[in-house]
Amino acid sequence: MAISRRTLLGALGAGICASAQSIPSQVDVVVIGAGSSGLNAAHRLRQLGKTVAVIEARGRIGGRAFTDTSTFKFPFDRGCAWLHKADDNPYTPLAKQWGYTLEAHDTKLEGLYFRDREAPAEVRELSSRIEEGLDGRIAKLGRKRDVAASNAMRKRSQVDEAVATFHGPMSSAVDLDELSAKDYLTIGTDVPPNLLIKEGYGTLVAQFGKDIPVSLNTPARKIRYGGQGVQVDTDQGTLTAKACIITSSTGVLAAEKIRFDPPLPAWKEDAIAGLPMGLLAKIPLQYSKPEFRYKAFEDVLRENIGKRDIYFLCWPFHLNLLVGFVGGDFAWELSAAGEEEAVDFGKNSVRSIFGSDADKYFVKGSFTKWASDPWALGAYAASLPGSAGAREGLRRPMAERVFFAGEACAPRWTQTCGGAALSGIETAELVAKIVK
Ligand SMILES: Cc1cc2nc3c(=O)[nH]c(=O)nc-3n(C[C@H](O)[C@H](O)[C@H](O)COP(=O)(O)OP(=O)(O)OC[C@H]3O[C@@H](n4cnc5c(N)ncnc54)[C@H](O)[C@@H]3O)c2cc1C
Repeated sequence: MAISRRTLLGALGAGICASAQSIPSQVDVVVIGAGSSGLNAAHRLRQLGKTVAVIEARGRIGGRAFTDTSTFKFPFDRGCAWLHKADDNPYTPLAKQWGYTLEAHDTKLEGLYFRDREAPAEVRELSSRIEEGLDGRIAKLGRKRDVAASNAMRKRSQVDEAVATFHGPMSSAVDLDELSAKDYLTIGTDVPPNLLIKEGYGTLVAQFGKDIPVSLNTPARKIRYGGQGVQVDTDQGTLTAKACIITSSTGVLAAEKIRFDPPLPAWKEDAIAGLPMGLLAKIPLQYSKPEFRYKAFEDVLRENIGKRDIYFLCWPFHLNLLVGFVGGDFAWELSAAGEEEAVDFGKNSVRSIFGSDADKYFVKGSFTKWASDPWALGAYAASLPGSAGAREGLRRPMAERVFFAGEACAPRWTQTCGGAALSGIETAELVAKIVK
């Protein structure tokens, strides 16, 4: 049975895809997932004259690039927000061409707090020097050894711990003791120049994907690749193709949401296990009072007992919004506790930084739920110490017809939306050469 035309038309009704072709039961390539990577892969394959079917488990495109326009009266990116390495990011020319509002924003600390105590300006300056030093030492260590990035920390003063937060939980989405120093060199999560997008990074990715026919609410359940080509089983039927590109997160792959026949080889399972999902979670908090205590786009970090650190991006685009970020082990802990607790934690932190009367102006808060999102199961993948080769293993195709792409496979700037796009494009070009 081919994928039904109704599934596609349902998506059209939701205004998500603009093209009304029915999906053929037999195509050159099936792309699994309509996030940044899958959309770019499909776009490139179509440019190269291949027939493509894109299937997406969710009821929308974009994956971890998602701009929420319903929680607040303004766009809020639940996933990616910064366009990293903007001078070389495939989305930058599109954002400019389509008239998006862009703001340069490389993180630097305008406020640093140790619990409820504000650090003086000289300690903040010291922290930026320590940060540069730590960055250099992790990179140096990573060029030599595949060990935990935490080995590059010299001492464990409060300032050192605070600084480590930026390279670990807030950037790589894992604590430094769970991150390979070698892998650190591949990560693109804070590579300048960085731009923020007022209309939302998710909006931009969705606009890029709007003309690509996608079959929504169609999870791939099983991939059979033992005979000729590949067969992809879904609840709506089976798609037959010469090859497929899987863009699911390593969280989804590790949870075995897609079964394989024959089963995945041990080297592929090892690669997936070596790249577990890290977690970055956002606590957006809306206030009725405009821009108090800090200015728009300023950055504040609060270092807390037990690595319960929180970073705030203040009032982006002059909105009455503080965006709190928690990462690594603490983000998993808070996700398990739930939204109410997360928002409370955020509000308490705001009170200690912005003043005890901040609550008077509180309007509403929210919490991103990537930890439990069944089609992500985390924010992005970071390779464990000793597993820096895992990205190469994840990229390696099986039987020259089952390919993998996505942020975890990115050739450059791993963990990022731009890196995921590049991975999709490069994988599509490779597949196009093989699939005649
Ligand atoms: C909180 C947070 C903040 C972030 N901040 C930034 C940032 O500021 N800048 C930045 O560049 N990046 C950031 N990222 C990372 C960025 O969002 C991701 O790297 C990127 O969006 C991943 O794209 P992808 O295509 O690899 O994966 P995804 O976006 O996850 O796309 C994969 C798609 O496959 C679908 N899927 C999975 N399994 C199946 C299946 N079996 N069948 C069918 N479909 C399936 C999923 O639903 C999904 O739509 C952030 C991520 C998070 C969570």
